Amino acid sequence: MRGLIVAGNWKMNGNQQFVDDMLFSLNKVEFSESVEVIVFPPSVYLHAARQQAKTVKVGAQNIFFESSGAYTGEISPSMLSDIDCRYVILGHSERRAIFSEDDDLIAKKVVASIENDLVPILCVGETLEDRESGRFFEVIARQVKIGLSLLQAEQVARVIVAYEPVWAIGTGKTASPLQAQEVHGLIRRLVAELVGEQISESISILYGGSVNAANAKELFSQPDIDGGLVGGASLKVDEFLAICSAAA
Ligand code: PEP
Repeated sequence: MRGLIVAGNWKMNGNQQFVDDMLFSLNKVEFSESVEVIVFPPSVYLHAARQQAKTVKVGAQNIFFESSGAYTGEISPSMLSDIDCRYVILGHSERRAIFSEDDDLIAKKVVASIENDLVPILCVGETLEDRESGRFFEVIARQVKIGLSLLQAEQVARVIVAYEPVWAIGTGKTASPLQAQEVHGLIRRLVAELVGEQISESISILYGGSVNAANAKELFSQPDIDGGLVGGASLKVDEFLAICSAAA
């Protein structure tokens, strides 16, 4: 049985006080055993967050693929393992659009994270233009195929995929549960073609794009939606907790 996951991507928001307050609140919650809750603070707060977190897991929003060296400003997969942060978001649409990350670079990060015992959340998703052209699944399929291309089949089983339509991120526009389910089903079928049905049925595919307390339950009740990657709503503790309850 694949796991239900609610992941909160804090992006470049907050400060030390925010991190302390969020973890203080989250530490008081007994989450359902059926849901894994993970928060993704900015990297300067990762270590402190990891030390404080009792009821949730902590992950990073990005890594580089090399393990050390002259890569000013980057953090490595082994550094994350070193502080026992086991999750990392890779290929977020903001990294693709603002920092020009392409599928080949993301594939290197995916394999580096697996080799360092991290769980990558590989983000894929189409722009509004791709959706309106009707060829959105071509774009998503390319992102999934290249993103997973450096992995052995059994390594794919350790990846989480997040479908995040770019037009729904931070816009207040959510894909309808049926629109999201259609893409999740297609991603699962594609992964089955790549590495077999058993692995494809075992991986979690999260939906991201303006998930909130009002729409989470219906989205998460779709057969191929295994939880959410939440941006803006993960910064408000009550709303984030309501989203976590919707997954339980
Ligand atoms: C995200 O950035 O991953 C995201 C889904 O953001 P939001 O929930 O704010 O749309």
